Amino acid sequence: MLNIVLFGPPGAGKGTQSAKLIEKYKLVHLSTGDVFRANIKGNTELGKLAKSYMDAGNLVPDEVTIRLLESEVDKNPDAKGFIFDGFPRTRAQAEALDTFLAGRDTTIHQMIALNVPEEELVKRLLERGKESDRPDDKDENIIRNRIKVYNEQTAILADYYSSQNKYVSVEGVGKVKAIFDRLSYVIDSLNAKS
Ligand code: ADP
Repeated sequence: MLNIVLFGPPGAGKGTQSAKLIEKYKLVHLSTGDVFRANIKGNTELGKLAKSYMDAGNLVPDEVTIRLLESEVDKNPDAKGFIFDGFPRTRAQAEALDTFLAGRDTTIHQMIALNVPEEELVKRLLERGKESDRPDDKDENIIRNRIKVYNEQTAILADYYSSQNKYVSVEGVGKVKAIFDRLSYVIDSLNAKS
């Protein structure tokens, strides 16, 4: 298996690059944000619960998110591997993921971070907000809160994976294809090792 955490702040380009990576490497894309949004659309209990947190740009509680992630992984028993996008976002989530994958005789092989300066993130998200129906992309205060939450709760996961020698960061500014090539280079060198 090949399990990658695609990491970086809101607006870093994780969704865009994930879509290209799963096609090239035949992995399953697992975005907790996408699953929450699908639940909001479907008006499920989970969607109702997640919505209030998401609209404010805060994190959905760990317990709920971890359970959701685990059930999504288990829906794909034949997967060659996963790209985790937007998960883990807290230390508790990272620890839960390690335990869960170990129970399935696998692990995270690499965290790849997309490095993008904050002002570029805000610009990209406001741009996306004009075309999408994501309420969290329409208001600069909410966008800035998401980046703040990222800096306070999520950024530390770079150290978590670094201490397991599983962290690498790539430049997330430039042409989509150029960034994709940087990510592919990292994944190809992982494949060469295994
Ligand atoms: P972005 O990275 O652009 O903020 P996401 O789609 O990844 O977009 O996440 C949108 C929102 O969904 C987050 O602000 C948060 O409220 C919720 N969410 C997504 N993933 C998680 C997670 N792993 N833990 C807690 N909340 C999450």
